[in-house]
Amino acid sequence: MGGEVRDPDPACQGDRLMGSEAVDSLLRELYPLCRSITGDGTRATLDVIERFIPLSRTEVPSGYKAFEWEVPLEWNVRDAWVCNAAGDRVVDFQRHNLHVVNYSTPVRQRMSLEQLRPHLFSLPEHPDWIPYRTSYYSPSWGFCLTHRQLEALAPGEYEVCIDATLLPGALTIAEAVLPGDSSDEVLVFTHVCHPSLANDNLSGIAVAALLAQQLAERPRTLTYRFVFAPTTIGSITWLSMNETRVGRIRHGLVLASLGDRGPFVYKQSRRGDAVVDRVAAYALSHKAGATVERFSPYGYDERQFCSPGFNLPVGRLTRTPNGRYPEYHTSADNLDFISADAIREALELCVGLCAMLESNQAYVNLAPKCEPRLGPRNLFRNLGGRGPSELEHAVLWALNMSDGSNDPLEIAVRSGIPYPVVIRAVHALRDAGLLRLPGRDNA
Ligand code: ZN
Repeated sequence: MGGEVRDPDPACQGDRLMGSEAVDSLLRELYPLCRSITGDGTRATLDVIERFIPLSRTEVPSGYKAFEWEVPLEWNVRDAWVCNAAGDRVVDFQRHNLHVVNYSTPVRQRMSLEQLRPHLFSLPEHPDWIPYRTSYYSPSWGFCLTHRQLEALAPGEYEVCIDATLLPGALTIAEAVLPGDSSDEVLVFTHVCHPSLANDNLSGIAVAALLAQQLAERPRTLTYRFVFAPTTIGSITWLSMNETRVGRIRHGLVLASLGDRGPFVYKQSRRGDAVVDRVAAYALSHKAGATVERFSPYGYDERQFCSPGFNLPVGRLTRTPNGRYPEYHTSADNLDFISADAIREALELCVGLCAMLESNQAYVNLAPKCEPRLGPRNLFRNLGGRGPSELEHAVLWALNMSDGSNDPLEIAVRSGIPYPVVIRAVHALRDAGLLRLPGRDNA
């Protein structure tokens, strides 16, 4: 690493982060867009993200084969409704885009309530919430409505319309690459395919976009690759198109569900001991209530990055994970359910994680036989009788453990000295010529 000392304490960077009002306005702009795994709602979402960070887009045509999967037809919806005999729209896509089953096949016909019922979905246990349903991989159509709406439907004839198209088109993947001194990459992935749902997944989109904007303004050792794509088919397609390049990924994070008021949850990569796993565990140990979970093959796109054929060092950062809050995949996951402050805190955490990934490099002690003289190098006070300061302790730890295999995080954990202090000691020793990065004459 170069001479740049990056402060791993995210609190020092808070004033540079975006204000809550700006986060709020980003969320309000994204919320109404009718996203799906393909289509113009997702492209419009990327247009908004592009105001924060330049994106390069790949339009992958329908029919593209990605391992056992295939890019589906492109879905676009203009309108959808159920009308009663009086001509009133009793279910109306224009009021809420969750009212139409996402990826519904087009339909326009009259039918009785009995014929319509198999196409209607509600949540009796939450009678005022609209469920979120999709029909991605089994062609069908339907409407989602509150249970109160369902119960209010009188027997009789209804007219249904889903003015949608399912045609050969493309799946859109967008990337923002921030080059660093090294081609070693940090992958940040977030899905962009849910319609009006806030925590899952606007919060992840917002944190990723703002994180990219933050990092773009900083000097970087590592290269950052942000990928915005639909969940499952998006990450699978991206992996199939980038199979020969994924070896550059040294660390990765899937970001999702970061706007609710629950504590942070980090899900380890399949490896469990990757640097990103250790860095996240350390950072979360300073966050009240935060927990670290072992990898499991269920969840978001970490499932694909951590499939055994890739086994990438990619973990997942959320607050309350998918499926563990009643509002999940319902209209109650709305802008009131999340807070801009929660998103800003998640952003600060991610900035701090990246700073740690940048600075956490294992050094080699160039004077490993006995202790080198630290006093003449101004690395240790020459005051007898007083115990060493925390920084001086960190200097001793860094000298002792820097054999090329222990990184500063390991030193911080073993010594109990805060990571930022260890980094200060490591950099002081490097500047004094006592530590260097392995394989470099002068770092
Ligand atoms: Zn979801």
